[in-house]
Amino acid sequence: MKNHSPLLAFICLLGAGFLNQAFAAADTKKGTIVVADALSAAPYSSVTIKGTLGTKMEQCIVNGIMAKEYTLYAKPFSDKMDKGGGFAGEFWGKWFTSAALAFAYQPTPAHKAILDHAVEDLLKAQEADGRLSSYPREEEFGFWDIWGRKYALLGLIAYYDQTGDNAALKAACKATDALIAISGPGKKKLTETGLQILGSLSSCSVLEPVVLVYQRSGEKKYLDYAKYLVKLWSEPNSYNPQGLRYVEDALAGADPVTMVAPKAYEMMSCYEGLCELYRVTGDKKLLEAVVRFGERVLAKEIMIVGSGSSAELWCDGANRQTEILEQPMETCVTATWMKLCNQLLRLTGDPKWADQLEISLYNALMGAMCEDGKWWAYYSSLIGERMPSPMQVPVCQSSCCVANGPRGMMLTPGWSVMQSGSGPVINLFAEGEWNCNLPGGHTVKIAQQTDYPVNGIVSLSIEPSKNLTFSIKVRIPAWSKRTHLRINGDSVPCQPGTYAIVTREWKPGDRIILDLDFRGRIIRAPGNVNNLAVMRGPVVLALDNRFVQAQDYNLWLLPEGTTWEFKNEFGGLKYVLPKPCLSEQYPDVYIDLKPVSPTPGDVWMAFEVPFLYRYTHFFDHRQVNLVMCDYASAGNQYNSTNLFRVWLPQPIFMYYLFPEKTWRVLYRDGEKRPEIPGK
Ligand SMILES: [Zn+2]
Repeated sequence: MKNHSPLLAFICLLGAGFLNQAFAAADTKKGTIVVADALSAAPYSSVTIKGTLGTKMEQCIVNGIMAKEYTLYAKPFSDKMDKGGGFAGEFWGKWFTSAALAFAYQPTPAHKAILDHAVEDLLKAQEADGRLSSYPREEEFGFWDIWGRKYALLGLIAYYDQTGDNAALKAACKATDALIAISGPGKKKLTETGLQILGSLSSCSVLEPVVLVYQRSGEKKYLDYAKYLVKLWSEPNSYNPQGLRYVEDALAGADPVTMVAPKAYEMMSCYEGLCELYRVTGDKKLLEAVVRFGERVLAKEIMIVGSGSSAELWCDGANRQTEILEQPMETCVTATWMKLCNQLLRLTGDPKWADQLEISLYNALMGAMCEDGKWWAYYSSLIGERMPSPMQVPVCQSSCCVANGPRGMMLTPGWSVMQSGSGPVINLFAEGEWNCNLPGGHTVKIAQQTDYPVNGIVSLSIEPSKNLTFSIKVRIPAWSKRTHLRINGDSVPCQPGTYAIVTREWKPGDRIILDLDFRGRIIRAPGNVNNLAVMRGPVVLALDNRFVQAQDYNLWLLPEGTTWEFKNEFGGLKYVLPKPCLSEQYPDVYIDLKPVSPTPGDVWMAFEVPFLYRYTHFFDHRQVNLVMCDYASAGNQYNSTNLFRVWLPQPIFMYYLFPEKTWRVLYRDGEKRPEIPGK
């Protein structure tokens, strides 16, 4: 997938060598990192992901990221186009950070040239005092001024990280100096800037690049400013009389929807900044705040497909996900939730965050990518229809979500197989190859053969550079209750929701076979709602009207092992007695799924799912099979006639399976149904 020809492969190899050197040159300044990550990314350029996921990533890069009119993105800075309150300034950095990761993964000269050109364009727009803003000076601190600066800084740092280019780092330092000059101690407080309704979150999330600039420059003034900024969060101000209190409230276990300005992805971006600040201060309170916040988001907001929000706000979404929500699951939220999970995985080494990354990747994120990676959804529903993002900012030919979706996708190589102090850590199961560094300067090549998540069997070949003793950690997802793990044929014990750790002398040719629990699982909706859904591995299933038609009767999901009653003396009656609603008393309920082959339509996976039809009390109960497909494929025609649903009331009245015109709930009166540009 990655390398189209031997020549390109050769160029990539050259590029990879160059890149690895560059990484060494652009590493963080010695001494700035106080706490080492539990897990770190394997070098991106050593990763090749194949199979369906590899194809999706390739589409995202070729048709999306690298095909963008990126020369438009520096113009808001040079021409101060956001005068009056715009946010076109966000696109350069959002796009650039995805492009930098795409280049890290595929370090070709063509990709490098695009990055070089884009940085050149942006730096031309930097003012003499370092100011890098899409707002004119007379509108300093305008609604999205600091927000756009934040993304520009993130982009410049990403460029420095990939190339070691000191001019980019210097430009980022100068831009941060210009920010400190107007908002340092005694100056305007950033907690009183940006849109007041968003509680200054857009401005405050600049914390992340400020700490990154410190990590790379080693200049203490940036650390001091970052600490000052976080201190401001605790202070009352004119925007938030009680202060933002993001550290205090998270430590107290506050629900995200109750926190100041519950704008979902801006809020998570602030916590990403706290992760970076923890790395350079070692202040455990900060890590604890982010972990607790992440756990609270997961418990209260994240829906079954791995995203959250309604109308871009936290909404108590875990409990409300069975309803038709207004503008659910913004793709910006999906990507930022994945970025936060990635931070938590790196910092804590807890595989539960990798479980979440996987669910978001295969469901919410993949379903939001449309037109072979050319475009993205703004919102993704669990019921109704999919629709593309509108053209939100025509001068940049983009929208917030079109720019953010690729950032989620390009995280994948970084968390797929990671490195720890004791050896590689396998988080993602996908056809592909990885090269990991081992302690002592050795390396190990890991190759996976699998069609996961179509099936749950993964074969890994382990090729260390010589016979070496080290540990390999293999993620056993929390949902895999029956797992078989074998090393060269010998069984190894493992527990769901943990890493199986195998420490031994590894030699070239060693093989790990992982057989995960791919029984269909019936998932009960959170809260007091009698709705069920079906998952298989990390994949959520959905009914799609291409395969299931409306009928005037009820159906019930039919779990595995259901007891049928027979009364032959009355002429062969066959029925299933009523059962109590599924609740926590029945935590693991499974259902037989039969793969449909070949898959119908343009879907990745499809299964026959057994339902129960009850004609009347004791008469003529029978099994009816309906086809369900993977959520990411459901509704993937992205039009108003291809309808789908995830949650299934028990029973479900088959006449009202698929509500129509849900796009009207998602977009406002007078708006037209969005179309993919150029289609
Ligand atoms: Zn968005």
